[in-house]
Amino acid sequence: MATYVIWQDNGVSEYFDSEAESLNDVLDEFCQEAGYVDHADACQVLGQVESQFNIKEILDNDDPGICPACSGSGEGEFDGTTCPVCKGLGE
Ligand SMILES: [Zn+2]
Repeated sequence: MATYVIWQDNGVSEYFDSEAESLNDVLDEFCQEAGYVDHADACQVLGQVESQFNIKEILDNDDPGICPACSGSGEGEFDGTTCPVCKGLGE
């Protein structure tokens, strides 16, 4: 069992526990719990040409006060962007 943080590019983040072996499988499970067939179906229904779902595993040794999505840097996935989970706070 591992815990993941999953967020969409619009900034809504959720914690999700899963035993799936790959991140793609975890996203499938996450979308199934949200009522979709799987991750690809969710993207299609939501009109996302490219998936806007982001996922990161929360490791046991991560400091609980540090944002799991950006590891405390406050930066988003791309240069010049702000982490959507912590809004750039890093925690
Ligand atoms: Zn962050």
